Amino acid sequence: AEPVLVNNEITRAIERLNPLAPLHNPANVLGIRAISKKWPELPQVAVFDTAFHRTLPEHAWRYAVPDELYTNHGIRRYGFHGTSHEYVAHRAAALLDVPVEEFDAVIAHLGNGASVTAIRGGQSIDTSMGFTPLEGLVMGTRSGDLDPSILVFLGRNGWSPEDLDSMLNRQSGLKGLAGNNDMRSVVEAAEAGDAKAAMALAVASYRLAKYIGGYHVAVGGAKALVFTAGIGENSHQFRNLVAQRLGALGVELDAGLNRERSREPRVISTPTSALPVLVVPTDEERAIAEATAAVVAQASVAR
Ligand code: AMP
Repeated sequence: AEPVLVNNEITRAIERLNPLAPLHNPANVLGIRAISKKWPELPQVAVFDTAFHRTLPEHAWRYAVPDELYTNHGIRRYGFHGTSHEYVAHRAAALLDVPVEEFDAVIAHLGNGASVTAIRGGQSIDTSMGFTPLEGLVMGTRSGDLDPSILVFLGRNGWSPEDLDSMLNRQSGLKGLAGNNDMRSVVEAAEAGDAKAAMALAVASYRLAKYIGGYHVAVGGAKALVFTAGIGENSHQFRNLVAQRLGALGVELDAGLNRERSREPRVISTPTSALPVLVVPTDEERAIAEATAAVVAQASVAR
């Protein structure tokens, strides 16, 4: 959905979707109600993190399960981090001096939550998060992809839905593999010889490299690879691990540029790399503020 002015109906709709985003929606609804109680005249705007992914083609958002699960329960892939992927796509296209409508790329948003998006003509055509922000990459405490039969197996062995939810969302990912969900600590431990930490990095970088390869195909040949968010912007070690697995795509990082620290969008690949690799700092708050200002301006014109 596009950004909208919040009213009671919108608030209730967000609340009805609590089960799909249990970490996010209840807190947002609480905030909306508290603000409208204290400042009833103040316009509030909802900006949806799934919106940028509304351009996914059906073959990308469908799960191969009985159709009734989609029609009766809305079970499909939605995607998340849309605010960040859209903002970063615009900034990356500008840095490369390409009109955003012609921008074909793969963007990796690597923070505590992590997702990768296939961008074609500036639009999202596939993304690694699905029905919830659990699918896809190895994250700080989330498993990402696994064989769904594991859940059936554990369910038959007495695990409740709450046990499974907590295991997948809070005890897995880097934390499950290495005992720590902070990328800095995992890299330090691996460099100090901790085999579990090294394996956690290998599993996470391998999974991401496979997604990048797949999305390169989905896009029909990406013209750029972009890293963003906490890990993507700051961990030269993790970027290097991923790039090492992308030799088949002709990706080549410049070791010096990759290690440089900066808050500016920049290219970190060699001039001979088959596609430029970029680091583009995200700014979800700014993107949300801009969308909000636009909605409020439009509403006051309409009034
Ligand atoms: P975010 O959710 O975007 O704030 O990203 C959080 C993740 O970024 C955590 O895993 C942090 O360990 C990681 N991160 C932040 N700063 C750095 C850094 N300087 N080096 C490596 N990882 C970092």
